[in-house]
Amino acid sequence: TMALFKPENVEDFYELGDVLGSGHFGQVRRVCERSTGTHYAAKFLKVLKSTRSLHGVDRSQVEQEVSILQMLRHPNIVALKDLFESRDEVALILELVCGGELFDFIAEKDELLESEAIFFMRQILQGLSYMHQQQIAHFDLKPENIMLSEKVAQPNIKLIDFGLAQRLEPDQEYLSSSGTPQYIAPEVIQYKPLSTAADMWSIGVITYILLSGLSPFQGYTDEETLNNVVELKYEFEEGHFRSTSDMAKDFIRKLLLFDPGDRMTADECLRHPWIKPITRKQIDKRNRSSINMKNFKKFNAKRKWKMSVNMVMMCTRLLTLRQRRGTNAEPDPLQRECDSDVEDLEVKPGSLLRRRLSSST
Ligand code: ATP
Repeated sequence: TMALFKPENVEDFYELGDVLGSGHFGQVRRVCERSTGTHYAAKFLKVLKSTRSLHGVDRSQVEQEVSILQMLRHPNIVALKDLFESRDEVALILELVCGGELFDFIAEKDELLESEAIFFMRQILQGLSYMHQQQIAHFDLKPENIMLSEKVAQPNIKLIDFGLAQRLEPDQEYLSSSGTPQYIAPEVIQYKPLSTAADMWSIGVITYILLSGLSPFQGYTDEETLNNVVELKYEFEEGHFRSTSDMAKDFIRKLLLFDPGDRMTADECLRHPWIKPITRKQIDKRNRSSINMKNFKKFNAKRKWKMSVNMVMMCTRLLTLRQRRGTNAEPDPLQRECDSDVEDLEVKPGSLLRRRLSSST
């Protein structure tokens, strides 16, 4: 079914409010439906009119994201309500997700039991299970795309950003090299045909980080990170996993497997004893084990800093300047800085640029 884009002006139906976030090709703003007073989020996307424009998405890419959102109706997946199209811009009217990112919510706590983290993991897996049943893969699962419905004590998970999502047809191979180094599966790096199992790898990485505050494959450069992924170089460092249950490690081990076919599916995850304990002993274990909060807070602070909007805008400006200057020019000092990718406290604007670029190429 083709998407129906309304040709009318969004502002005739919705009053624009404050900016909620920004992506590669436009802003997401809070809007209020004039006829009902209900609040939504409007995701504006600049659509490319000519191949020479520097900024924008292909019309076909927008249609892809829209057609996938239209197929998905689930409490843990952001819902699409309406669509508008003007001369050079498309607006997706989405269910408003007000609770912020899951990782930020958790980072504000003083302590968190595994059983409390599982409350969220189960919802993520339920959303994924639903998508995967329809052969839809997200292909960009990372903390930034796991949000919470509301600011309440026990909020619901909402998966967002279906910009890279794909409907996998049975007689078609799907190849892609998009993603964020820390979270992408080995088959993506090796440019092999992808399946919904690539999402399960990302769930393994996210769970690992959630429990320890460590990123399992993170190297000093993106290249090093990608190498660690294809060589499956990770371990449960004793110092960071002291308070983690063996069931949780078993759960992660069954996801961080090289061969996609060996990984647990979302449904299998939901039946794993860490998510669905059966014996009293299993229940007790989850209530005795906890998140490494000190380290998780550190990880999250670093992540937020790297994401900071100002940095992205600065790098985008640098990039545009450089593109105007042409590709034959000598690499300037800024260029060199943007090519290096030092982790930790030394992170430079450049590493952020690389990350953004590598997640969109
Ligand atoms: P990216 O460049 O990171 O891939 P994108 O252009 O695909 O982003 P989204 O990730 O969908 O855009 O949205 C960008 C940001 O806007 C999100 O990180 C989030 O903070 C906010 N946002 C997106 N959708 C919603 C929503 N439904 N409700 C509230 N905020 C939202």
